[in-house]
Amino acid sequence: MERHKDPMGRAISEYWRTGDTTPIRVFSPMFDEDIMPIETLFRSYAGMPELEQKALKLAQGRTLDVGAGAGCHSLILQEKGIDVTAIDISPLSVETMRERGVMKVLQQDFFTLNTQFDTILLLMNGIGIVGKAENLHVLFHLLDNILAPKGQLLFDSSDICYIFEDEDGIIELPNTKEYYGNLTYQLQYKETFGDPFPWSYIDAETVNEAALTHGYHFDILSEGPHYDYLARITKQ
Ligand code: SAH
Repeated sequence: MERHKDPMGRAISEYWRTGDTTPIRVFSPMFDEDIMPIETLFRSYAGMPELEQKALKLAQGRTLDVGAGAGCHSLILQEKGIDVTAIDISPLSVETMRERGVMKVLQQDFFTLNTQFDTILLLMNGIGIVGKAENLHVLFHLLDNILAPKGQLLFDSSDICYIFEDEDGIIELPNTKEYYGNLTYQLQYKETFGDPFPWSYIDAETVNEAALTHGYHFDILSEGPHYDYLARITKQ
């Protein structure tokens, strides 16, 4: 990723180096403008949602933290003595993680990996990294290569059906071909704009179906307070 187009990496790096708390602005055609406080990406164990805490407890063996950002999960696992590798496409985030003490860091696109792990973590709605729900097959083909025998992929996600809820609490999903959880985001930090990118919030049933199609087993491990869940994918 090019540095001048990496608002999140820049925000992470500047917060780490100078304590600058300018938030990241988040734009999406389906929502009002939002902000992401930079402190969110530096959250401590106590500041993490329970679903993430549970995922960290379940991590074992050679562990991969995908889209590791500022490294909040990797640092906790490393302290617990887990052999964790953080991977991120952002050079500024990778630099920051190294400075923060994450020992194994890869600056690489997750989808180009070719080494095996026992636990693969996709946290903070991390399965959205596939971009569109229709691309889940790309993830499963990758898992064929990088998930060690008896390995597990742990991820959290949300079913964003609630955004289609009316005043009476009735949810009517849009009648379009496009999966309703497929979004486009654009991020801004100070004068740095990133390119728009696709990210998907995928409901459990959709992931389950894709898992079965590709010979994987899907389990919900825990449900959060607002249509969010933690799930595990293992080879059947
Ligand atoms: N997991 C972190 C950060 C989430 S933000 C946390 O929970 O705080 C998502 C991160 O994924 C960003 O740092 C972004 O640079 C990274 N990312 C996006 N696509 C990626 C890809 N294909 N390979 C590796 N990292 C990716």
